[in-house]
Amino acid sequence: MPHYLIQFFFMKQAYKNITCCILFILSIFLTAVAQNSDNKVRIIMIGAHPDDCDDDGGGTAALFAQMGYAVKFVSVTNGDAGHQLIGGVELAKKRFAEAQEAGKRLGVVYDVLDNHDGQLMPTLEVRLQVIKKIREWNADVVIAPRPNDYHPDHRYTGVLVQDAAYMVSVPNVAPETPALKKNPVFLYFQDRFQRPNPFRPDIAVDITSVFDKKIAGLDAHVSQMYDWLPWIGHYAEKVPKDKNERIKWLAETRKVPISTAVRTALEKWYGKEKAAQVKNAEAFEICEYGAQPDEAEIKRLFPMLGK
Ligand SMILES: [Zn+2]
Repeated sequence: MPHYLIQFFFMKQAYKNITCCILFILSIFLTAVAQNSDNKVRIIMIGAHPDDCDDDGGGTAALFAQMGYAVKFVSVTNGDAGHQLIGGVELAKKRFAEAQEAGKRLGVVYDVLDNHDGQLMPTLEVRLQVIKKIREWNADVVIAPRPNDYHPDHRYTGVLVQDAAYMVSVPNVAPETPALKKNPVFLYFQDRFQRPNPFRPDIAVDITSVFDKKIAGLDAHVSQMYDWLPWIGHYAEKVPKDKNERIKWLAETRKVPISTAVRTALEKWYGKEKAAQVKNAEAFEICEYGAQPDEAEIKRLFPMLGK
């Protein structure tokens, strides 16, 4: 190859490398801008199993995602006990794949922690995992179960997140992940348990417009919606074989009736007229730990309220 051609070749390569470098730096910069400077609320929902967040907050997550907000779901266990025929690594892998598909359908990031299903304990080790997840996401809002529930994994997920509520701001705890500068607002998912006290719907979100999306997210959890839950609940014979029939059936069985308390909360946030039209809702209770939002702050955190 003549000398000038070799020189041309190397110059071309150098330009290519410089362009790649600039594009790389630009992408990091744009990501940082998107994540931190746009003032958009960042939400993290934490459940015990891969499908819990979808069930209790999937509609609200889909609304946030539609507005371009960053939402993450975390499953504290890998779900490796939730099936009647398979278990262990095989099931954990299957459920991880289902969670990723559900995340894609809802527009959220789905993380699954590698703790065994059915064996979760509120240990320091898992508490540090939870603190890390909340900090890394730079969360403004954290949503988790209340610590009273029939399932020990749900109950301890509630305890673990409560235990993280103050610690996320303490720099000397888990110092490898920078502490949050401001304490997030911690909320509870809605549940039906009455003792020691019933769930109080402080915030109610109209999810009617995204209910189909929520169901599409749940439909991704095939091993749960169509195998395990019907089997353990003794209604396996009711699951339709046809794909479209299944989704219709799922929508019927996953519909949560709107209680009087939730309807009253909807009226507060949307007005009587609009609240009367709501067909599907998700509600949340403000946890006593973490930042305590006033009405204006709740409207800032949940901009879909009233719309
Ligand atoms: Zn669960």
